Amino acid sequence: MKAMNGLIGLSSQPSKGLEVVKKQSVRTRHIPQRTCVGCREILAKRSLTRVVRTDTGIKIDSSGKMPGRGAYIHDHLSCWQSALKGSLAKALRIDLTESDRQTIMQFMQKITDDSPQEGLLKSNG
Ligand SMILES: [Zn+2]
Repeated sequence: MKAMNGLIGLSSQPSKGLEVVKKQSVRTRHIPQRTCVGCREILAKRSLTRVVRTDTGIKIDSSGKMPGRGAYIHDHLSCWQSALKGSLAKALRIDLTESDRQTIMQFMQKITDDSPQEGLLKSNG
């Protein structure tokens, strides 16, 4: 009589059906999120435009890497409008100067989410 029989029986379990047990590897990449100063919605940083405060006034920081206090606005005209009205100044803790407003308004001209008027408003010279 060999007592090993029982042991062998244990280690050689019948593997039927080979269930593929997937580990729940939920890859949660960290997506940086920021609040739009216009509508206070929290969005992925990439979908927002950063406005940074510099010594010479505010700048549109398209790279997102400029040093300084920044505020984030997403590309809705209404958000930029409310930013212009005061929420941006509040976020950056400054008062918008006239040239700051120009900077914002110039950027707003590029945003055409509401009214894609083709050629209607062209007044070039
Ligand atoms: Zn917004």
